Amino acid sequence: MTAAPAAASASDTPEGAPNSAPSQPEKTVRYIFVTGGVVSSIGKGITSAALGRLLRNRGLKVAMQKLDPYINVDAGTMNPYQHGECFVTDDGAETDLDLGHYERFVDVNLTRSASVTTGVVYGAVIAKERRGDYLGGTVQVIPHVTNEIKERVINYGRSTGADVVIAEVGGTVGDIEGLPFLEAIRQMRRDQGPGNVLYVHVTLIPDVGPWGEVKTKPTQHSVMRLREVGIAPDVLVCRTRRPLNDEQREKIALFCDVAPEAVIEAMDTETIYSIPLSFEEGGFADLVTRRLGLPQTEANLEEWRTIVERILRPKHEVNVGVVGKYIQNGDAYISIAEALKHAGVTHDCRVNIHWIDSEELEEVTDIEGTLRDFDAVVVCPGFGARGIEGKIQAVRFARERKIPYLGICFGMQMAVIEYARHVCGLKDANTTEVAPDTSHPVIALMPDQYGVTDKGATMRLGLWPCALTPGSLAARLYGGVPSVEERHRHRFEVNNAYRDQLAAQGLIFSGQSPDHRLAEIVEIPDHPFFIGTQFHPEFRSRPNRAHPLFAGLIEAALARRIK
Ligand code: GLN
Repeated sequence: MTAAPAAASASDTPEGAPNSAPSQPEKTVRYIFVTGGVVSSIGKGITSAALGRLLRNRGLKVAMQKLDPYINVDAGTMNPYQHGECFVTDDGAETDLDLGHYERFVDVNLTRSASVTTGVVYGAVIAKERRGDYLGGTVQVIPHVTNEIKERVINYGRSTGADVVIAEVGGTVGDIEGLPFLEAIRQMRRDQGPGNVLYVHVTLIPDVGPWGEVKTKPTQHSVMRLREVGIAPDVLVCRTRRPLNDEQREKIALFCDVAPEAVIEAMDTETIYSIPLSFEEGGFADLVTRRLGLPQTEANLEEWRTIVERILRPKHEVNVGVVGKYIQNGDAYISIAEALKHAGVTHDCRVNIHWIDSEELEEVTDIEGTLRDFDAVVVCPGFGARGIEGKIQAVRFARERKIPYLGICFGMQMAVIEYARHVCGLKDANTTEVAPDTSHPVIALMPDQYGVTDKGATMRLGLWPCALTPGSLAARLYGGVPSVEERHRHRFEVNNAYRDQLAAQGLIFSGQSPDHRLAEIVEIPDHPFFIGTQFHPEFRSRPNRAHPLFAGLIEAALARRIK
């Protein structure tokens, strides 16, 4: 009891300042707002993340935030096919995939407050209205909704002790639902002082025609849309396939009313991880720190350069088959793809990802011919019946042919079903998610999910501890620690009624919840690498710190290839 207050006061004090100086002036927080124009998916997320990395490398404390104008409260209820992956934070928020870029580039663990959607904002405003907080007032977009947005940005900066908040506004300038957010960030410059707020606009410079003529007009129009709502961008990040010459730069600067040095070229790159380096070369972070009156320090990018060098010029190469049902949208499994690349960095190895449609796999008669050439197989997370038999086929092939296998969440559940069916002889083994009447529900609903009907934020989410079985492959890969924490997002679990039967036939439960109620990792002995995880290891992988299970998979894939 006595230790707690001391610990609390220490963490309440910003930057570890002594408690005896309570009158210390509050730290000035700078705000960088990143908007996008011309087309969606222009790369605002990676631009924000790369800038965050450069500022962090200058010793600044950077807080990354995403302001998403969609009306969903969170990304958990959105189709990954349309919207890309749903990223999960330590504290169990189901968020936009851009938070994954922020975590990977800036190397931070984000929280729920890093994601602000229209759903969250209106939910809060309506709750306040019902409580009577605005009694007598007419509740309006300005000021009530805009104040709610501003408060969430400001409180986030304060609570994280940030020097700089980088807040990216989702969508494209001109979207109807983005207007309250643009109005809120416009007011921020007035509220916080012009020197403390910077607007970065990410835009496209297309090249058209047979000579690849570079066109600046769409950018001019996009900046006009911003000006209409009272925001004059300070920096333009120009996505382009061709380098901009001085004349083009001058022209963009003149028409859009920014300094020529504030026209930052963002050429397409072979790997997204080289973007911080090209931004650094283009003077982006120097410009930002100068404009915001932040210390002009040099960034140490040594580690980052090594990572990029290994990605671009690796010594080895492996081919990994990744089985999923949303493979037409490259963003649907983006954290898995990135985690595989990080593992490649660890082993100085190019990881070629071959996406395999699980539904198509269901129709394939020659599974051997389809999967034979892969050095490893990954089965992705998923929901619902579509494509599951294809996933089960892939598991069977990897198990029987001893191809390194990593099954993530649904991919682990498929591995358990496959084992039950083909090793334990439980022919119609299944998950009650897709076959509620199966006679062998080896995967079933957790008791605390009985009666849950709402879909939003009701799964088992966020960080949970996992005790590792000493001597197992998982324990070895994690470096011999007794337990780890990993992020979850699922409703179903291995049914304990079948654990003994599965174990008797050789399946190892090498990771469990500390009370042993929940199976978190399964593995198979006499196999070079066969692991299924109920959690999502991909969310915690970083380019400078590949996740041990992904690193293990690629190590095994390399060993198979070299053999
Ligand atoms: N659909 C499965 C469940 O809810 C797996 C979820 C996932 O793969 N994220 O348990």
